[in-house]
Amino acid sequence: MQTSTQTDRSPTFAPGALAAAVLEWYQHHARALPWRSAPGTPPPPAYRVWLSEVMLQQTTVAAVQPYFARFVERWPSVEALAAADPAEIMAAWAGLGYYSRARNLIACAQAVAQAGGFPATEARLRALPGLGAYTAAAVAAIAFDQPAVVVDANVERIVARLFAITAPLPGARGEIRAATATITPPSRSGDFAQAMMDLGSTVCTARNPRCLLCPVKPWCQGAALGLADQLPAKAAKPPKPQRIGHAWWITRDAAVWLVQRPASGMLGGMRGLPDDGWTARADGHAQPPFAGHWRKGGVVRHSFTHFDLELHLQLCEAGQIGHDVPTALTGGDFWPIATLAAAGLPTLFAKAARLALGGTDQRGIR
Ligand code: SF4
Repeated sequence: MQTSTQTDRSPTFAPGALAAAVLEWYQHHARALPWRSAPGTPPPPAYRVWLSEVMLQQTTVAAVQPYFARFVERWPSVEALAAADPAEIMAAWAGLGYYSRARNLIACAQAVAQAGGFPATEARLRALPGLGAYTAAAVAAIAFDQPAVVVDANVERIVARLFAITAPLPGARGEIRAATATITPPSRSGDFAQAMMDLGSTVCTARNPRCLLCPVKPWCQGAALGLADQLPAKAAKPPKPQRIGHAWWITRDAAVWLVQRPASGMLGGMRGLPDDGWTARADGHAQPPFAGHWRKGGVVRHSFTHFDLELHLQLCEAGQIGHDVPTALTGGDFWPIATLAAAGLPTLFAKAARLALGGTDQRGIR
């Protein structure tokens, strides 16, 4: 496979013609999504665009839709979100993962509400808490029709194929972004960005791209060279480290002890079971919070982005052994097991709770 260069991928076409073909395709094939406006119509409110884009980071459209619906029903504006109890927002986010997003969501909502609304330029959006280059560009293009270059994983795949960019990701990102800039139209950038996202998720898919149905096939160097399904190339990833931790299921009077995790770090700010301090970089210390009659409760396996965790669950019925639990435990509360679904446990601890309760999900714990 040859490596492409800026010179040999100089477009031999008018980029405007490609953008027009993409926009024409979008007119007929746009996905109807609750945070979107129909092609060619006024843009949706920035609040809905921003909220959906934050939720969609590393998360599928199918997983996001029910969360988005619940959030906009409960907090219909950025001002309402900014005024909400942060613990309630964290609990409503439970199960969606990547909890630093929820912490940044709260900080961003407060900053926007204080400023009187979302700024309309990519540079000022980029300065808000938690808005990376992608999200700032997406909100600028989709909500404010700014000519921003929006590159998500779908766009990355299409552009790598379109220009036959064979350098592997993540190193090729700069080259892909520069190539995307050459095809982004000066107007209707939001529709163009959403069209490319839809094209990537329905036609130029990771496996078996449907080139015969693709509006950019006439210009696609990857398809012409027979490279489409090999691109984008990806650098080999090192194997994920394996971590071991312990968590404690401490019950008394049909309630379980839950702690509020520290604001920073893994699952920061979320409720959880007390644990032994495992991190992405180290195993936990395995020492239970007090001496007692601990029983083995099984093992939960959970995969985070950068490591896999094996969480050993240990059970103790504190009420039966006469411990002075309130002085032995701090930073939490006994939560009624019957309403555990409302505690907003992140997926790791929801799995542990289901295991402790006999593998069933009778209480609707997500
Ligand atoms: Fe993707 Fe095929 Fe379209 Fe090229 S022609 S952009 S490889 S679907």
